[in-house]
Amino acid sequence: MNKGNEKSFQSLIENYRSNHFEDEICLNPLTDLQKYYDDCEKDPGHRSFKSCEDFRLTDIPVKYRSVMLLNLIRTLFILTVQVMVTGISPDRPREQSSGLHEIYEASFGSPPVRFGSGKISKIKEIIGRDKNTCPCKECLKSDFPKKKWYQIEVNTAKHVVYDAVEAMNTTCTFGYISYACKGQSFSCVGARVSPTSDWCKLTCVTHDEELAAKIKDKICLYDEMSENFYVSYRTSKKKPRLAIIISHPHGCYKQISIGYWRKRAQAGGLDTKYTYTTSTCKGSSGAPVYILGRDGRLGLSTHIHSGWDPESPLKDNFSCCVFDSIQ
Ligand SMILES: [Zn+2]
Ligand SMILES: [Zn+2]
Repeated sequence: MNKGNEKSFQSLIENYRSNHFEDEICLNPLTDLQKYYDDCEKDPGHRSFKSCEDFRLTDIPVKYRSVMLLNLIRTLFILTVQVMVTGISPDRPREQSSGLHEIYEASFGSPPVRFGSGKISKIKEIIGRDKNTCPCKECLKSDFPKKKWYQIEVNTAKHVVYDAVEAMNTTCTFGYISYACKGQSFSCVGARVSPTSDWCKLTCVTHDEELAAKIKDKICLYDEMSENFYVSYRTSKKKPRLAIIISHPHGCYKQISIGYWRKRAQAGGLDTKYTYTTSTCKGSSGAPVYILGRDGRLGLSTHIHSGWDPESPLKDNFSCCVFDSIQ
């Protein structure tokens, strides 16, 4: 790429980064993400984000402070993954993509990489019958594909992964918690997306039995704990306002942010959309937004982070619309 082209390419990237969705985009993840993190203008220094290692009971506002809630946050932390996308679907609507198609077209040879966050919601063991074998990239190339694998469902935002084509170019990373601990990745093989809302359910695969057992255990624990909070607040006069987010800001290691929800909008059917003060950055798109006492009924979906509105008086962050347990 010559200098002139590089300049116009950078301006395409800058234009994309100024849109209200919060996926991160860069050309070279090894150098660019850290720079974006260090130069962040939305949350300079990221002081309202905490790594798991630094997160203490005293970081929970005193009104809501309990070991039970701390355990729920730590479990949700484990279930949160980084979502990395290397391709774009031809079906992604051009007029709503903030120039994303143009970026991929202009970057011939070294496509950009996009980052978001996601939450593991389900895991299922699959035993292949007859010629049915593990659909992961490794097994597709292997002469001895695995006959037993685990299907993992990851909830993220549709603007991060638009459809099955983009899902085939997506990798989720579990356990990226610090610069020293990069975690382990599993590939995506499909996606189911909402026709009207901004959510996407990715289908990922692994045949790592130890990882699968850990994930299964944490899903059970999270569903049980969030349902307990839901049940105890349902019958209580207290109306909690806490909104907790775990995400990978700027595609870097995952962190916890805590704030309050301000508005809750009914969005057709039984879906709701929340706006909140909880900190998010580029890279937080698709992250779980746990609304204390509201999410968690029968293991139904936790809310999903979508973007922010810099024009609103309090520069609110907002979720996409998902089914709400309490109407
Ligand atoms: Zn930031
Ligand atoms: Zn496989």
